[in-house]
Amino acid sequence: MIRMASVDKHFGELHVLRDINLEVAAGQVVVVLGPSGSGKSTLCRTINRLEPIDSGTIEVDGQALPAEGKALAALRADVGMVFQSFNLFAHKTILENVTLGPIKVRRIGKDDAEKSGLALLERVGIADQKDKYPAQLSGGQQQRAAIARALAMKPKVMLFDEPTSALDPEMVQEVLDVMTTLAKDGMTMLVVTHEMGFARRAANRVVFMSDGEIVEDAPPETFFSNPTSDRAKDFLGKIL
Ligand code: ATP
Ligand code: MG
Repeated sequence: MIRMASVDKHFGELHVLRDINLEVAAGQVVVVLGPSGSGKSTLCRTINRLEPIDSGTIEVDGQALPAEGKALAALRADVGMVFQSFNLFAHKTILENVTLGPIKVRRIGKDDAEKSGLALLERVGIADQKDKYPAQLSGGQQQRAAIARALAMKPKVMLFDEPTSALDPEMVQEVLDVMTTLAKDGMTMLVVTHEMGFARRAANRVVFMSDGEIVEDAPPETFFSNPTSDRAKDFLGKIL
């Protein structure tokens, strides 16, 4: 579903992605781990072309990433993204946040969009919050709304970049639970997270990045019990 081959990217002098080769098959969940500055966010952002690459290829569902225009907008609609900061529209209600994309981009009628929007809010457990504004919700509720908003576009792939890092500890689990259910339902997911429990339980593979490189790519049980590189051992030593 996602295929990156020989991808390189620089920010000026900084070689931020080095010869990245990564495949995420349909229905797979891949967790990306690595120290701060190793290129995890940049990797995510290249997949919906928020960041252009210098060389190599990226395909989503068999299509090479378009550079611009309508094709790029269509690609972005197929690739849902959830960030650390919830990025909801502050002046729209929760339900409006979830229906806006389908109405504007997918050209769904308002009634249908509201019906499916409500079902999605139900699914992430915040249907009762539908008429509130983002600032009136807890962080965990806002992040679940952000996930519902991304899902409303019926994406083929979901990218998560540290979705629980900005949350108070007691709200982390409710967001991870939604993500775990999504994974079980067969969504293709690339997840940057420091939540090792989620990686162990939900991931098919763990990809470990360091200095812009993929250093390890293994099933979680292998990665956590038997990391092969010194860099991964060092990283795990610090966080476990
Ligand atoms: P963190 O765990 O802190 O979120 P990360 O692994 O997500 O880190 P990136 O955000 O991808 O790391 O950044 C990789 C490197 O690229 C860092 O050295 C960062 O300073 C640099 N970088 C990121 N975005 C830009 C940019 N727009 N311009 C210049 N340098 C950038
Ligand atoms: Mg990051």
